[in-house]
Amino acid sequence: MTTSVAGTRQDLGRVVIVGASLAALRAAEALREKGFSGKLTLIGEEPYEPYDRPPLSKQVLTGYAPADQTALPRRCRLDAEWRLGVAAVGLDLAAQRVHLADGQKVGFDRLLIATGARARPWPNRAEAALAGVGVLRTRDDAARLRQYLVAKPRRVLTIGAGFIGSEIASVCRELDLPVTVVDRGGAPLQNALGGVIGDVAATLQRQHGVDLRCGVTVTELEGDENGRLRRAHLSDGTTLDVEVAVAALGSLRNTEWLQGSGLAADSNWGVACDAACRAFGLNGIVTDNVFVAGDVARCPHPLYDFEFLGVEHWSNAVAQAEVAAHNMACAPAQRRLHLAVPTFWSAQFGVNIKSVGVPRFADEVVVSQGSVDKHRFVAAYGRQGRLVGAVTFNQGMWLDFFERLIAESAPFPPVAPGFDQPADAQPVPARFPTQALPGFILTGHEQAESEPS
Ligand SMILES: Cc1cc2nc3c(=O)[nH]c(=O)nc-3n(C[C@H](O)[C@H](O)[C@H](O)COP(=O)(O)OP(=O)(O)OC[C@H]3O[C@@H](n4cnc5c(N)ncnc54)[C@H](O)[C@@H]3O)c2cc1C
Repeated sequence: MTTSVAGTRQDLGRVVIVGASLAALRAAEALREKGFSGKLTLIGEEPYEPYDRPPLSKQVLTGYAPADQTALPRRCRLDAEWRLGVAAVGLDLAAQRVHLADGQKVGFDRLLIATGARARPWPNRAEAALAGVGVLRTRDDAARLRQYLVAKPRRVLTIGAGFIGSEIASVCRELDLPVTVVDRGGAPLQNALGGVIGDVAATLQRQHGVDLRCGVTVTELEGDENGRLRRAHLSDGTTLDVEVAVAALGSLRNTEWLQGSGLAADSNWGVACDAACRAFGLNGIVTDNVFVAGDVARCPHPLYDFEFLGVEHWSNAVAQAEVAAHNMACAPAQRRLHLAVPTFWSAQFGVNIKSVGVPRFADEVVVSQGSVDKHRFVAAYGRQGRLVGAVTFNQGMWLDFFERLIAESAPFPPVAPGFDQPADAQPVPARFPTQALPGFILTGHEQAESEPS
């Protein structure tokens, strides 16, 4: 075995990464930084080199940054072969080949699956095809939605009040556009943060002029004779005149190309892998040369009862890509585990929301510092007397502190730092919707629902 920088094997042969976005780029960079000098190929369905998605629902929609100026910064020279604008459509594990939509086959010795997720579409195809109806996942989606907003629609409808839906509503208010948010749950962000903090988010939205309707679904999107969206019919019998509607209904993992490959993959749950990022076969045995990272991956986490977590957060894609790249390149005895505590952020209605750990795992929540009314607070989440997550509204400086406590499985309620503990801080039920399916998908940025609103 030939080794170089930090034990990186040089006899890896050909490395192929399918998906050409955040996780793919960071993994490719990590491989090069570790001294891998062999053939590296990145295959991406979109025609663009890797770009950043978080600005799409924030700076791009407000007009602060054009959609085509969201490219991810590069950490190093990659010297890679880019196959962009062509999807992988199949995987032959025995022959070690990826099949592409243009009929070509790309051989590999090590494969990284980083195909992420896509927006769950509005379920009625004819209604989804109306001009003015869309989703938000890609650069093209964001450019289209920005054009719709620039045209000053009479009203925008956001279907789903998860992070994406709420961020879109926030942008609409910033642009002084009337916006209605419809969600079949009890409060915005409820799936990710529970009903107690969801109620705080609801107040925030209403204070900013959002017409928020919870416990309601959209039953029909109606177009005019030119195929343009004109009206939305709701389950409470009301009708809204709307010219733009965004389905923010969560996501589906991009796993269809893996059908028949023998890997444990499914579009609701992603590709199952172990904590070393190695993909599981359907027989429950991990593969040696196929790795997974980012939104498409689902892997067990010891802090969360070894549940298979699917984490759709930016920082998870980066951390998992680094571990996957390390494990692809190192000798088996040097493999690392992906044990990062999940974190995410969101910006909406003038509030910086940050989270660490897995609030969704909790049964109780306590406001440990600050003031809910002023939208400057920390909420700590506990499960059976153990701290499992924390969320901050405009108090991000406490995140590291809580991350350390969560990693240590500290007791709940925690002893809060700082000076501004509310006098009446008492844990209360966190009010998460009942988990209908096994395991967790922590979307954070897509509505955490598995079914349309
Ligand atoms: C609008 C928006 C806002 C967000 N805001 C935040 C935020 O504020 N904070 C935060 O923490 N996270 C945020 N996220 C989540 C974050 O962007 C994702 O976690 C991150 O993009 C995941 O990276 P990834 O590389 O795993 O997957 P993706 O970014 O989904 O990339 C996967 C790539 O693979 C390609 N692909 C799919 N199938 C194939 C195939 N068969 N063949 C070839 N290529 C394929 C796709 O086209 C895509 O380019 C946001 C996401 C969105 C959509």
